[in-house]
Amino acid sequence: MIKFDIITIFPEIFDSYFKESLIFRGRKKKLIKINVHNLRKWTSDKHKTVDDRPFGGGPGMVMKVEPVYRAVIALKSQIPKTKTILFSPRGKKFNQKMAYQFSKLDQLILICGRYEGVDERVAKHIADLELSIGDYVLMGGELPAMVVIEAVARLIPGILGKEQLLEERITKEKGFIEYPQYTRPEVFNKWRVPKVLLSGDHKKIAEWRQKHRKIIVGPR
Ligand code: SAH
Repeated sequence: MIKFDIITIFPEIFDSYFKESLIFRGRKKKLIKINVHNLRKWTSDKHKTVDDRPFGGGPGMVMKVEPVYRAVIALKSQIPKTKTILFSPRGKKFNQKMAYQFSKLDQLILICGRYEGVDERVAKHIADLELSIGDYVLMGGELPAMVVIEAVARLIPGILGKEQLLEERITKEKGFIEYPQYTRPEVFNKWRVPKVLLSGDHKKIAEWRQKHRKIIVGPR
């Protein structure tokens, strides 16, 4: 079972999302475990301070290193297959192949930044990896954490409940195959479903899907 430990100053953001659908089922079936931790738990002052002004000046606040350090020390398992990720728009860009690699781990610790970002010592000395979910700037690492958890969770056997489909769609390079799909009705507003898909000819259908497929990560 893979365990996700999320470190955030807004734990409530995750409440409804992780109670829904397949993620919820995966948790109930004990295929995944998701723990959301409030970073303020690891502060030591009366005001539970998690941020401070940036050295060198400039606007905004920066997340402090000490609470994050204590949180990661407290949460890191003894098991070897664990990774600590810091979300940052400066990080390596997340993709399907990384999702596969992560799905083989026992634990992922996900550090969600806020404000102007996180003291660089977290990236340098505490996290194993800085991860971006795309070239745009969000207000926090909470959505990126959900993105990574969803992409990883659906690769864990038993979560989707359609292993065969998943197998078919994975390339040797661990890319993911997506082809166009249709369902009933055959005609809507004069928009027709491609004839070949209605033909029952499995070979032709496979050829059509091959021709129209897109591979997510890997040769396109
Ligand atoms: N001034 C900062 C912006 C920080 S955004 C800068 O430009 O570097 C605040 C937090 O949101 C970041 O610490 C990070 O955890 C998260 N975040 C924002 N955009 C992100 C992205 N594209 N991918 C991953 N995390 C992101």
